[in-house]
Amino acid sequence: MTRSVIVVGGGISGLTAAWRLRADAEVTVLEGAPRIGGKLRTGTLAGIPVDEGAESLMALRPEAVHLAQEVGLGDDLCDPAPAPTTLWSDGALRPLPPGHVMGIPTDPGVLAGTGLLSQEGVARLRHEETLPAEPIADDVSVAEYLGGRLGQEAVDRLVEPLLGGVYAGRPDRLSLRSVLPRVAAVAERGEPLLGALRRMRPSGGAAAPRAGAPRAVPVQGLRGGAGRLPLAVAAASGARVLTGTRVRELRRTPGGRWRVFAVTGDGPLLLEADAVVLAVPAYEAAELLRPHAPLADADLGAIQHASTAVVTMAFPRADALVLGHGNRHGDELPTGNGFLVPAVDGGALKAATFLSNKWQWQRAAAPDLFLLRTSIGRVAEEHRLATPDRHLVRASVTELHRALGSIGEPVAARVTRWERGLPQYGVGHIERIARVREAVGKLPGLALCGAAYEGVGVAACVATGTAAARRITEG
Ligand SMILES: Cc1cc2nc3c(=O)[nH]c(=O)nc-3n(C[C@H](O)[C@H](O)[C@H](O)COP(=O)(O)OP(=O)(O)OC[C@H]3O[C@@H](n4cnc5c(N)ncnc54)[C@H](O)[C@@H]3O)c2cc1C
Repeated sequence: MTRSVIVVGGGISGLTAAWRLRADAEVTVLEGAPRIGGKLRTGTLAGIPVDEGAESLMALRPEAVHLAQEVGLGDDLCDPAPAPTTLWSDGALRPLPPGHVMGIPTDPGVLAGTGLLSQEGVARLRHEETLPAEPIADDVSVAEYLGGRLGQEAVDRLVEPLLGGVYAGRPDRLSLRSVLPRVAAVAERGEPLLGALRRMRPSGGAAAPRAGAPRAVPVQGLRGGAGRLPLAVAAASGARVLTGTRVRELRRTPGGRWRVFAVTGDGPLLLEADAVVLAVPAYEAAELLRPHAPLADADLGAIQHASTAVVTMAFPRADALVLGHGNRHGDELPTGNGFLVPAVDGGALKAATFLSNKWQWQRAAAPDLFLLRTSIGRVAEEHRLATPDRHLVRASVTELHRALGSIGEPVAARVTRWERGLPQYGVGHIERIARVREAVGKLPGLALCGAAYEGVGVAACVATGTAAARRITEG
């Protein structure tokens, strides 16, 4: 029976594992940073809580929302304001008509007149259903498959910005099977795509909900910030949590236990446990696994990461309203929940989220301010981040003014950099992870979880944390 477990990494994946293990083991969480939570972090701006990393919990799959409920945050779950997905595309804000699957319109006709695609681009989409469709056997990139069926313009202007919002990744590198599994399933069956997607329930919200069906809100937030989730999970788990404790090495003892070497502000620390859960990013897991599972090390080390920065800003509402005479919305503040930007337009911004519109609690916390955040940086765009914080703020304000008209100047701004923050699921990712799991499966008392494996979203990370705990308890 496993009596003691060390969890390396105090992000949501590791903390979920600690919570799931609470009844079966004495758990110690070792976190290298000064605080737990990883990419779920709520800071403050102008005295207002703001999420600096993840701010939405996927609600179409249940794991994150259930976890929040389990640890007592159920009453604080909240829905975002309803708003269409909007693209700042080719110089204008353009809502994406409902009824799409990750930007792929199931009915190309709805795009006519939206300016999202050229006439040729829409015609190319219509042509999809007449193209021969051979079953594809191997994983391919999103761009290779979708470019062939829908045309490059649809990939660049519709699919890329939506994928960019999740992965900060490039369609010519991302794995179709990993990031668009429903589309990959159609490709593997060798069916025309749009017709097959029409028969499914689109994620864009076109399908009317069936009477009595559960509400399909795609995401939910937490009043006070999604960063409250890891803190609540850690507290509920009862685990011993050591922050500022970076693990450098794992060794197996002759008795089959694990010895964990860490460094802290006070010097080295050596701990021993029956089992270890590695809940760190892929490049850290690769280092720690090197002496024990070289094949897993190579596969994990090959996973690319995108670095991004989140620029959170507070604009005085009154100023923005006054200045708003010059903006495209008359004398009103920007409407909607924000916008995504196709990389092909060449700007710095990947996305903007209007926090004060999206989350009622955020608006109530700062009634005199208009809070928003921008996101800068996709994979292979590190050059955009090699600049001081104030330049990222300036680039954000300049592009916001271009997209929205003048909304004034921010009275407060905060830049949060997430270096190598988002793992990229490249072509062959599923097979790569299967190899890693097989290699690690041969190491008794060791389990892996985190964003590098079966999904980068919080819900997927929670699922891997739960699975890692099960592997430890079930052996
Ligand atoms: C800017 C941004 C916005 C996002 N927005 C959303 C969103 O809105 N919704 C959504 O679902 N997902 C979002 N994501 C993705 C999601 O937040 C992350 O994938 C998820 O939180 C990762 O959790 P994790 O526990 O696997 O990893 P992490 O959060 O990275 O946690 C790993 C922890 O391990 C620690 N660590 C690393 N090495 C060591 C070591 N050697 N010893 C000890 N500790 C170590 C790190 O300090 C870190 O705290 C976003 C990601 C980013 C970067």
